[in-house]
Amino acid sequence: MLQLARRMSRAKPSAIMMVAEKAKRLKAEGRDIISFSIGVPNFLPGDHVYAAARDALAKDSGQYGSNRGSDALLDAFLKHIEQVGLTGYTKANCATGIGAKHVIYNICEALLDEGDTITFPTPYWTSYVDIAEILDAKIDLLPCPAEQDYKLTPAQLDAALAKKPRVFLFNNPSNPTGMVYTKAEIDALADVVAKYPDTWVITDDIYNRMVFDGVGYHNFVNARPELRDRVIFIDSLSKTYGMPGWRVGFMAGPEIVAQAVTTMNSNHITNIPEIVTAAAVAALSGPQDVPTAKCVEFQGKRDQVMAALTAIPGVVCPKPHGAFYAFPDISVAFGKTHQPTGLAIGNDIDFCSALLEAKGVACVPGSAFGEPRALRISYTCPTPQLAPGLTRIQEFFAELA
Ligand code: PLP
Repeated sequence: MLQLARRMSRAKPSAIMMVAEKAKRLKAEGRDIISFSIGVPNFLPGDHVYAAARDALAKDSGQYGSNRGSDALLDAFLKHIEQVGLTGYTKANCATGIGAKHVIYNICEALLDEGDTITFPTPYWTSYVDIAEILDAKIDLLPCPAEQDYKLTPAQLDAALAKKPRVFLFNNPSNPTGMVYTKAEIDALADVVAKYPDTWVITDDIYNRMVFDGVGYHNFVNARPELRDRVIFIDSLSKTYGMPGWRVGFMAGPEIVAQAVTTMNSNHITNIPEIVTAAAVAALSGPQDVPTAKCVEFQGKRDQVMAALTAIPGVVCPKPHGAFYAFPDISVAFGKTHQPTGLAIGNDIDFCSALLEAKGVACVPGSAFGEPRALRISYTCPTPQLAPGLTRIQEFFAELA
């Protein structure tokens, strides 16, 4: 029988999507399901974005576009990143892709040969592992448990970079934990990065506009401008602008990397569609009231989630200061049984499955993110669903013995 390439034995569908699918199925069967599972922002962009798309449709050029991204889009992106202190970049430093996931995939393919090491903190966004495995890279995970607020320490980074990995992949604000590194923490990590010139750094900072409590967003290039020669900044429209399905992601970094992504695009996608490009320019350059309002709303929802979680005995949840996730350690439930249903809770997957079965609340098991003592709550659901969903989680815990 004809076989697929060996790399396909390492490729697997996202665990997050599998939970979302199960929740969807139960919903279709008529169950009352509240989904805290998939990481979608759950809002739509402003009217000006749709107007720009309609306008572009009326003026369709009928042509292929630029492999790198249109000049208008790159200019809009350059202005956008200036607002977070990334100045002095030109279009030659930038490239676009079909979402940040595609850009990260292309960069990893451009930087990692088979057997090269990529290092990143765990908990991690699931696709990092999946991408590295498809590329047959070695993964060096840096455990950052709840006890250290899910944050990487300079000492951990120092030990990891001393092994000369090819790539250090960093994510701030974090999916799944919602952690945001302070300026002092970024400065300290940047000092370590500066000591090890043989490692590329990818900073996946797509939630950089969703930061609460005045913590602010900081990055290695602000901290140490000389690092721009090997730091690759990743951004996306998906979360900030409520545009995950439009599929627009970006990078800014060394010219050689931006050119590599452009070359990959020329072989994969050719270009981002013209209508999507027009919508993306409008999102980046137009009124910012929708993302600003959503950030305020998410901070309020974060407060509700934290109030509910801290009221559950034994549950520990480092306070998230960004993105739209909370990542409580729920290991206090392990070894118990949900009394009304008789469902035994041996681990995070049992927990999420029993919670979905018994209470109709979908969360993603922490093992999908490399931390099996936790689960991820994505709290962007419609506001009226949030309190009942949290109450059901509290009831579920109360029914364990
Ligand atoms: N990076 C992180 C940390 C994410 O959470 C996600 C999406 O969930 C992505 C990248 C991918 O974003 P995009 O929709 O732009 O592909």
